[in-house]
This record gives sequence, C-alpha cells and structure tokens, in this order.
Amino acid sequence: MGKVVINSARCKGCGLCIEVCPKNVLVPSSKNNHLGIYVVEVKNKEECIGCSRCAIICPDAAIEVYR
Ligand code: SF4
Ligand code: SF4
Repeated sequence: MGKVVINSARCKGCGLCIEVCPKNVLVPSSKNNHLGIYVVEVKNKEECIGCSRCAIICPDAAIEVYR
C-alpha cells in the first residue's frame, strides 16, 4: 500500500501519470492551479500500491510517493 501526493502547483496536466498507473488511482480533475491548468487528482487513494511509476514518469517532479 502506498500514498501518492500531487503537488498541484507543479502539475502541467500532461496526463502521463494517469496513463502509467496500473491501478487507476489518478484522474483528471476539474480544479485548476495558479496557471489555469487542469491538474491531476488522486481519486482511488486506497488502491495505490506505491509502485512509483507515476512519480518516475512525471516530467515536472510533481508527484511524491510514500510507502
Ligand atoms: S505526469 Fe506530472 S505534470 Fe503530468 S499530469 Fe501527472 S502530475 Fe501533472
Ligand atoms: S505509485 Fe503506482 S499505484 Fe500509486 S498512484 Fe503512482 S502509479 Fe498509481
């Protein structure tokens, strides 16, 4: 079991993290950040296995994963 934390201020909404997550934890949100970008949010947080795929692929280091 893992815990994923999104830094919304750094997210540019590219969606790469959504694509690589094997557990569909991350989803696009209707919330935008200070740049007006629709950021990713954690939907199924209890499903996170802490694999860190999302954090590794994120080009903007906007994701931290804890295990
Ligand atoms: S990969 Fe990073 S920048 Fe891209 S949507 Fe996910 S958190 Fe945002
Ligand atoms: S750590 Fe793995 S399971 Fe958890 S949100 Fe990231 S890609 Fe999905």
